[in-house]
Amino acid sequence: MENIYIPKEEIQKQLNIANSLKEITLGKKACVITFGCQQNENDSERIAGALEECGYEIVDDSDIADVIIINTCAIREHAEIRALSEAGQFKGRKANDRSIKIGLCCCMAQQAHRREQIYKSYPYVDFVFGTDMHHRLPEIMQTVLNSKKRVSFITDKPHNEFGVISEGMPVKRESGYKAWVPVMYGCNNFCTYCVVPYARGHERSRCKEEVLAEVKSLVEQGYKDITLLGQNVNSFSGGCSFAQLLNECASFDGEYVVRFMTSHPKDASDELIEVIANNPKVAKHFHLPVQSGSSRVLKLMNRKYDREKYLATATKIKEKIPDVALTTDIIIGFPTETEADFAETYSLVENVGFDMIYTFIYSPRVGTVAAKMEGQIPREDSNRRFKALSDLQNEVAEKLNEEFIGKTVRVLSDGYNKNGVPCGRSSQNKIVTYDKFVPEGQFVDVKVENVGAYLLNGKII
Ligand code: SAM
Ligand code: SF4
Repeated sequence: MENIYIPKEEIQKQLNIANSLKEITLGKKACVITFGCQQNENDSERIAGALEECGYEIVDDSDIADVIIINTCAIREHAEIRALSEAGQFKGRKANDRSIKIGLCCCMAQQAHRREQIYKSYPYVDFVFGTDMHHRLPEIMQTVLNSKKRVSFITDKPHNEFGVISEGMPVKRESGYKAWVPVMYGCNNFCTYCVVPYARGHERSRCKEEVLAEVKSLVEQGYKDITLLGQNVNSFSGGCSFAQLLNECASFDGEYVVRFMTSHPKDASDELIEVIANNPKVAKHFHLPVQSGSSRVLKLMNRKYDREKYLATATKIKEKIPDVALTTDIIIGFPTETEADFAETYSLVENVGFDMIYTFIYSPRVGTVAAKMEGQIPREDSNRRFKALSDLQNEVAEKLNEEFIGKTVRVLSDGYNKNGVPCGRSSQNKIVTYDKFVPEGQFVDVKVENVGAYLLNGKII
């Protein structure tokens, strides 16, 4: 494990560089704009932490920032287009003020064809850096500030050599009561549609002790909702099984919940299900991405489980954890998906009873196996299937939520929602609205009176 850990001396070197920059960054502001998943949100908190260490004040408003970093996602084309269009917004500002520094990082920067596009078509982007460079941000900023040329910090190595773990760099968390804690990075699964193994390198786990120390410190600081992150948390190999790690993370004194994201169905173990069922501090929420209900398509996706195995796992989860919310991801329109394949996905959604599904239309990714497959599905067919599944899911979710009417749920307050209504999240991660304002980060009991497909509503008791 040592060879992937960044040595302490290297981290200290970066902290020294950060310190040396403080004179020139005095009064300067930096803004990090994030696209993508929870992993990216956590990376942005680490980028903001490093920038703050360099002396920048972190601001949300890019209009007043001297440094702007766009943290990108490459999972679907839509996410890439949004990030490029965000970068395009800064063309005018850069023309007016050459001293502003614009950076683009992470998953898109990691891909050679996107880097080339950025280099050619976005000349006002001053620097790019990849997914394993966050700990080197002080050095990157030093180079950017001292150089008239455009700067690139990218690891260009094969999958099994690409990826590091760094501990000890500062993190600037967005929330004072919800926190992300990565337990592992990268992925070795190579699902045929997915760019993650190429963008984030090989699978590697943090040491159990590092994870526990971070969670303990968060609980002591008053954090109430902690999510353990990894592309496939079940293959955690940092000194114990993931189930044991989860159990220990949820065994410190104090009232808080621990969640995790994401578990791969091929590895969802009985031990994990037991921990969720029996440890009251583990959230009663299981996100188990199925991707398709057709065993034929699952095989083409290289998911390493079939419809029957998934159904058996989902049934076990629901039996052992009676109050669980089960959620999933589904890809519509994977190459060669027939109406019959889609009908199997539809019936799986009907039978399992998911509290929520995140449905994505398949997006070919450069370099993946599926992008080269014959039988790409016309957009109209995918759109139609997408709509049918969403309509079904709305009915399923509302029916499941009706079971909460008359029950009391413990809710962690998020203050007000965007309509000014007091709201929070239950252990199942369901949105709950209620009658009286409760400050953010406090727990409250709510008796549910009425529900929608994705909402419980009630009164505080
Ligand atoms: N590691 C998780 C797993 O194995 O289920 C998934 C992580 S991925 C960031 C989140 C979701 O994006 C996937 O579950 C999948 O549904 C979706 N996704 C990934 N690649 C995609 C693609 N090329 N087109 C459409 N959706 C995609
Ligand atoms: Fe992508 Fe599959 Fe890895 Fe999840 S498990 S990140 S879908 S390759």
